[in-house]
Amino acid sequence: PYNGPSADQILEKRKKFLGPSLFYYYQKPLNIVEGKMQYLYDENGRRYLDAFAGIVTVSCGHCHPEVLNAITEQNKLLQHATTIYLHHAIADFAEALASKMPGNLKVVYFVNSGSEANELAMLMARLYSGNLGMISLRNAYHGGSSSTIGLTALNTWKYPIPEGEIHHVINPDPFRGVFGSDATRYAKDVQDHIEYGTSGKVAGFIAETIQGVGGAVELAPGYLKQVYDIVHKAGGVCIADEVQTGFGRTGSHYWGFETQGVIPDIVTMAKGIGNGLPLGAVVTTPEIANVMAQKIQFNTFGGNPVCSAGGLAVLRVIDKEKRQAHCADVGSHLIGRLRSLQDKHDIIGDVRGRGLMVGVELVTDRKEKTPAKAKTAILFENMRELGVLLGKGGLHGNVFRIKPPMCFTKDDADYLVDALDYAMSKL
Ligand code: PMP
Repeated sequence: PYNGPSADQILEKRKKFLGPSLFYYYQKPLNIVEGKMQYLYDENGRRYLDAFAGIVTVSCGHCHPEVLNAITEQNKLLQHATTIYLHHAIADFAEALASKMPGNLKVVYFVNSGSEANELAMLMARLYSGNLGMISLRNAYHGGSSSTIGLTALNTWKYPIPEGEIHHVINPDPFRGVFGSDATRYAKDVQDHIEYGTSGKVAGFIAETIQGVGGAVELAPGYLKQVYDIVHKAGGVCIADEVQTGFGRTGSHYWGFETQGVIPDIVTMAKGIGNGLPLGAVVTTPEIANVMAQKIQFNTFGGNPVCSAGGLAVLRVIDKEKRQAHCADVGSHLIGRLRSLQDKHDIIGDVRGRGLMVGVELVTDRKEKTPAKAKTAILFENMRELGVLLGKGGLHGNVFRIKPPMCFTKDDADYLVDALDYAMSKL
């Protein structure tokens, strides 16, 4: 049993010693003391079904035994030395990760977070292209560091600082977007930005393949193919942010970009790659990697033995436990049940996503698509009371994000949907 400080004591200390910009979920924040696969436990031993996986980070499951064992064994031998010496773990992990990539994406860089991965990708794009301008989608989240904040396009996260040349193009959002699912018209906006807002040349384009923080928004079908062509013609490189969508979570494909039939020039990863370890990666082509060779590039903790051993175990577990197929199977069951729930409750404006990357957008008026912000907040608290932890997203905070650890089962999905049905009926 837990005999540490209470939730109130922790919160008080947090307020005193941690920055005031920190936010927490729930009016009375949860004190989580233990995790096991798709379950989390609070200080009273109450179990919660985790449908948000520490913001889409715990891929294999909380404290998955095989990943835990790999980390523990490596911890006992050597935790740190850096790439100034050789170590097999980083090389083995890079080889395994490269083997998962299509095309010529064969050169791996390890970093410690998603923001760092996107910083590095942006640096590569600018060096390789010789241009400065970056294009990202409105409603995107690519990080909170002082330069990735420029790529992020949700005002809740953006501090007013100089961002450099960044163009935020119209989001190809089939539900809320001005052009519906018409990828060509959205792609035209990218062309327009290049023609009217740049010298005609850009450094690159970055997009999540299903927007995460923005509320599980899947891009209009065919969009990336058209935009990649436009960006390449303007001298830029195309970056896929797979921080949330990678590693089989979408079910139909191992990488989110594959759902749009494209091969990016640079792929960035974090979160699920480490099942909770602080780990990120950038994978690119030898041609792009070559521009980095004009200087030395170093990251003290990037690819350290412990994170590399853990990351390698994650790749192994996802394959061994057939998690991609599992995400497809459980995800289609979950989405099917949520769509049935949509027939029953008018508040559900949209159910979308792929595999275990699912969004439920709540509206007060289906025709106007008015965000049901207040009701979402109430349901969110009530779901916690019913033992289900959801994510929340979208600029208006009216989208439930269901992105559980990939070991989530159909029974778990049923419990979640039944709980949501109950909570909505009580509204
Ligand atoms: N890209 C995406 C798509 C993300 O969701 C996030 C984090 N929410 C990031 C980048 C930044 O990752 P980190 O918080 O590890 O810096």
